[in-house]
Amino acid sequence: MSRTADSDLAHLFHPYTNLVKHPETGPLVITRGQGVRVYDEAGKDYIEGLAGLWCTALGWGEERLVEAAARQMRELPFYHLFSSRTHPPAVQLAEMLAAQVPIDDARVLFACSGSESNDTAIKLIWYRNNALGRPDKKKIIARERAYHGVTVATASLTGLVNNQRSFDVPIDRIFHTGCPHYWRYGEKGESEEQFATRRAEELEKLILAEGPDTVAAFFAEPVMGAGGVIVPPATYFAKIQAVLKKYDVLLVADEVITGFGRTGNMFGCDTFGIRPDMMTVAKGLSSGYLPISALIVSGEVFGPIAEEAGRIGVFGHGFTYGGHPVSAAVAVETLKIYAERDILGHVAKVGPVLQRGLAALQQHPLVGEARGVGLIGAVELVADKDSRTAFDPKLAVGPRVVAKAQAHGVILRAMGDAVAFAPPLIISEAEILDMLGRFRRALDEAHGELVG
Ligand code: PLP
Repeated sequence: MSRTADSDLAHLFHPYTNLVKHPETGPLVITRGQGVRVYDEAGKDYIEGLAGLWCTALGWGEERLVEAAARQMRELPFYHLFSSRTHPPAVQLAEMLAAQVPIDDARVLFACSGSESNDTAIKLIWYRNNALGRPDKKKIIARERAYHGVTVATASLTGLVNNQRSFDVPIDRIFHTGCPHYWRYGEKGESEEQFATRRAEELEKLILAEGPDTVAAFFAEPVMGAGGVIVPPATYFAKIQAVLKKYDVLLVADEVITGFGRTGNMFGCDTFGIRPDMMTVAKGLSSGYLPISALIVSGEVFGPIAEEAGRIGVFGHGFTYGGHPVSAAVAVETLKIYAERDILGHVAKVGPVLQRGLAALQQHPLVGEARGVGLIGAVELVADKDSRTAFDPKLAVGPRVVAKAQAHGVILRAMGDAVAFAPPLIISEAEILDMLGRFRRALDEAHGELVG
């Protein structure tokens, strides 16, 4: 193992890592990147099939972002937005975001991560209902298999067992309703639309059981990411939104992964006909080059909050680095590049190449379902295709295939036995085919081992 790897094992505490197994295998030390590829310390190159952590939309080595950061570093490396202070990059970015989101009279509140923006959304929902004199309307509903972050409150929204067990979450007031994965949870003979109706009815039942006067908001990723890339079934969001409207429950769209072109439109909300009251963005906002996130709320959400803050004398929330000028300058440049290079047009062109390639993998004996939209997708590995029987989790088939793919020079991510694809949005058709070819070799090898 290299000096860096040794020192890592001695000093770091790694997120989302098996802390017992990790010392045996050691970390993968990545030292640089260019385009859709990253390089390890031995110089081996990998196609980054997950854009890092679903973020590096413009790939590595984008000089314009480096220049934007350097310029801003020289001009004003730090200032904040507290106590009526402001600075041009934050203002410009807020203006650009407000013009793009499907939210009326949008207001933008910056933070540094997806978790912080979602956590802030929860606080604002509670604040607003206090302001409106409805102190009991505070419960929040998310979905099983959702991922909204890791703060105490957002880990509570997250509906993945590993994020909850042992952390003493969820906290009170947070509830979960069913995951909209038709292939996994649809009943025999049930159509996609019928399944969507059932999920909306379950949501309504939960709201009624808890009492509509106590339910404040519903959180949803337009496409669930860490839960396994779950694309909602046809009519799902229309039906869900009708229920929310009926009971005056706010809709928070978590666009941390789906924002900025990932699903083929600027936002996942555009792809699935969602009109949210609040939206969170991060990751692609700066192409992952610097930490920045935003919570964007409608004028209707903002109004009562502003009035309450006026009564109190101050809006008592904010992060020192929220809207950091260097991060904001990089985000402004990122959004300009998306527009200038017609990144949506590019996703429209190459997205179908990824989706066709994934669909073709459905013929593979290990693949139960291939799914996706735009430049995000997944294949679900199963022990038996017809009965959709999952592998014994002890076999860790997903991580095994991902490890083999890594050996073949492509970095992917396993979520259980779903393997996710979300490459940089700049990926070319040839690079997509190369990535899928390497992945297929990994699948074949794993299949050989499993059937023995
Ligand atoms: N929401 C979604 C949909 C995410 O995928 C993530 C992270 O992957 C988050 C929120 C949390 O973002 P962060 O890791 O920046 O706190």
